[in-house]
This record gives sequence, structure tokens and C-alpha cells, in this order.
Amino acid sequence: MTTNQTFDVAVVGAGVFGAWTAYQMRRAGAEVLLIDAYGPANSRASSGGESRIIRMGYGQDAIYTRMAQRSFTAWQELFDRIDRPQLFQQTGVLWLARENDSYCEATLKTFQQTNVKFERLDQGELKRRYPQLELRDISWGILETDSGILMARQAVQAVVAEASAAGVTYLTAAIRPPKTGPDKLQSITTTSGREIVAGKFIFACGPWLPKLFPELLAGLIHVTRQEVFFLGVPAGDDRFNSPGMPTWMDINELIYCLPNLDNRGLKIAIDKHGPPFDPDTGERIVNPESVNAVRAYLARRVPLLADAPVAESRVCQYENTSNGDFLIDRHPEFENVWLVGGGSGHGFKHGPAVGEDLTSLISGSAKVELRFALATKEQAQQRKVF
Ligand SMILES: Cc1cc2nc3c(=O)[nH]c(=O)nc-3n(C[C@H](O)[C@H](O)[C@H](O)COP(=O)(O)OP(=O)(O)OC[C@H]3O[C@@H](n4cnc5c(N)ncnc54)[C@H](O)[C@@H]3O)c2cc1C
Repeated sequence: MTTNQTFDVAVVGAGVFGAWTAYQMRRAGAEVLLIDAYGPANSRASSGGESRIIRMGYGQDAIYTRMAQRSFTAWQELFDRIDRPQLFQQTGVLWLARENDSYCEATLKTFQQTNVKFERLDQGELKRRYPQLELRDISWGILETDSGILMARQAVQAVVAEASAAGVTYLTAAIRPPKTGPDKLQSITTTSGREIVAGKFIFACGPWLPKLFPELLAGLIHVTRQEVFFLGVPAGDDRFNSPGMPTWMDINELIYCLPNLDNRGLKIAIDKHGPPFDPDTGERIVNPESVNAVRAYLARRVPLLADAPVAESRVCQYENTSNGDFLIDRHPEFENVWLVGGGSGHGFKHGPAVGEDLTSLISGSAKVELRFALATKEQAQQRKVF
């Protein structure tokens, strides 16, 4: 990058949202600069984990089912183009349902309306297929046969590599919070004092958005500490590998679990929001109470792993909006600044659709979706999207 170079668009943040946005903007013909303080899908970023679920199920929220369908196609096209199909692992995604399970029943209905491929399994069939799981309290399930896992960190880095090959300029730099008003932002400044000039600015800073725009977003995006565990599987035992073990969602207990991918162990995480967390300075060491909670759950659901050792653990963060809907909107004071984030623990899979929609918004060919508008974000946390 030369000192006086100007860009049509500067995208701040190379997580999944920023990476796909930079890539899609470039494909639409723009000169794009992509900037990240710590690097694409770094270990502090929400996109920085090993793996993320791509599922179509969202209860009655067909808006996300449709976005996930679009994104799934785009992910697969990308992985085929770069000849890295293993960045998606088709494990299947199994929803464990109770009697009168309104979320899973709504998911079924949405699947029928949106042509998602699925199997409805009764308890007998679940027990027959998945003897590793203890399913006494589970009455039925939905198996999304085509869904599975995106190898998250590697996938984002692949998007950035593709974007760079297509002509996006990438820069490692930390951007200072922009000053508010007048109605157009002329430039942004790095912490080392370098000025970056662009026609438009997109801030895709995930959990850092409230730090960059404290007056606007501090009360609207809540950053919570989330813990992830990889349990060591028994030696010589492949019962926890895909395809024998699917990815499964126990939404009623706010637990999800991934099979032993890449031989890292069975991945299990508690989806309940943790305490507030600082993505820059937070220590990423798991709490002993969470280890106990995970073990207690495993003892009930996967008795074979009741005493399995924790082989690896991670602390990440969610950047939650009031109800879990994304934020994709223009800054209210700058007509050339766009904000994208609020992934709320489920954003990863949607990276391609978010990038595509933002590109259409910026070109003026689409309007802001009300559910993603800044005006619909509230202070009080009342999670509705899972
Ligand atoms: C434990 C866990 C499990 C999850 N599981 C799933 C799942 O299974 N499926 C799913 O779809 N989603 C899942 N999610 C959610 C998903 O990972 C996030 O919604 C998504 O990664 C958010 O991406 P992002 O690009 O908005 O933010 P990030 O990935 O955090 O990217 C923001 C980037 O901005 C950069 N940045 C910040 N400030 C500055 C600055 N001042 N200057 C320059 N750069 C800056 C950061 O370095 C960072 O790289 C999970 C999240 C967590 C934490």
C-alpha cells in the first residue's frame, strides 16, 4: 500500500463479516482496503475458533434459514474454487427435541417452506443410530443431513487470501475511534498516526464495535465471555467421529456439541451468555465451574465421556444485540459509514450473505432490513434468536 493511495472502501475488521464484505465489494468492482488490528480470524476475534456450525434451523425465523441457505452455497463455491473442500465437514446437524417442543416444531415448519433437506427421527430411530448418546428425555429429533461444520479460522483466512488475490489490499493496523460529525467521514487514523482516506468506511469490528463507537453502541452490543471445551475421546474409539456422531444441538439446555473433528476431541459449549468480557485484555482461561457444568451434562448425555479429560479449551466472546438480530446499518451521523456486527453467537455461517447484502445496500440496490436496523436495537437483553 502506497502512502497516498485512496480507496473506494475501507473495511475495518477481518473477521468473517469484514472478510466476506471486502471480498464481495471487490467482486462488485470497488478498490478495497481491508484492515485488522490483530490479523484475520486472530485468536481474540469471534471468528478465531477452530470450527463453527452451519445449520439451517432457526425456529420460525425463516429470515436466517434463507440467509444460511445462500451462505452455504457461497461457502461451498469458494471451497471448491480454491480446492479446499475439507474446510466444510458434512457431519449433519441433529436437533434434540422434547415433547411439545415449540422451537423444533417451528423449525420443521420452516424447513418445509424453504426446502431444507431433513429427516424427522423418532426416539427409537435416534437410539438406534446414536447409541453413544443417552436420549431418555428426548422424544424426537430433526437431522439436517447436508449441514455441518465450517473450519472457521482457516475458512476466514481463505476468504482473505481470495480477496487479496482478487485485488483487495490488506493492512495490519489498529484504527482509532473516529470522531463524530460532520455528515461525511473523510478519513480514519491508525494508532501509529497513519491517515487512511476512502470514499466509504465499513466497521466490521465484532465485539470491538462498542469500543469504536462508545456513545452509539456501548449499551446496544453486549460482549459476553463464552467457553468451549474439547474432551479427549477414548483411545482406539471412533464412536465420536463423524459420520457416526453428528453435530447436535440440545437447544432446550443451551448446549451444542461437535464430533471429534481433526482429532481434537468432542467439542462441547454452553450457549448461555456468560459475564461481560473485554476482547483485548480478557484472560482466556476457562473457569473450573464451567468444567464441572460440562462434565455434569456429559455424564447425563454421553455417559461414555463422563470422565473424559479436557484435551483443549478456549475462551471466546459473543457480541450480542438485545435479541440476537444482527446489526447491518448506516451510521446515523455519517452517510458514508456502515456498521456490521452483532453476530450474537450465531453469525459465522452467515458471512457470505452479510457481505452480499451489505454490498447491495451500499450500492443503493437494497434497503436496510428492519430487523438489522440500528433503530430496532434495544438496551435490555432479551434473547429471541438462537
Ligand atoms: C464460542 C463461539 C461459538 C460460536 N459458534 C458459532 C457457530 O457454531 N455457528 C455460527 O454461525 N456462529 C457461531 N459463533 C458466532 C460467530 O463466530 C460470530 O458471530 C462471528 O465470528 C462474528 O464475526 P465478526 O466478523 O463480526 O467479528 P470478529 O470475528 O470478532 O472480527 C472483528 C475483527 O475486527 C478487528 N478489529 C477490532 N477493532 C479493530 C480496530 N480498532 N482496528 C482494526 N481492526 C479491529 C478484530 O481484530 C477482529 O479480527 C460463535 C461464537 C463463539 C464466540
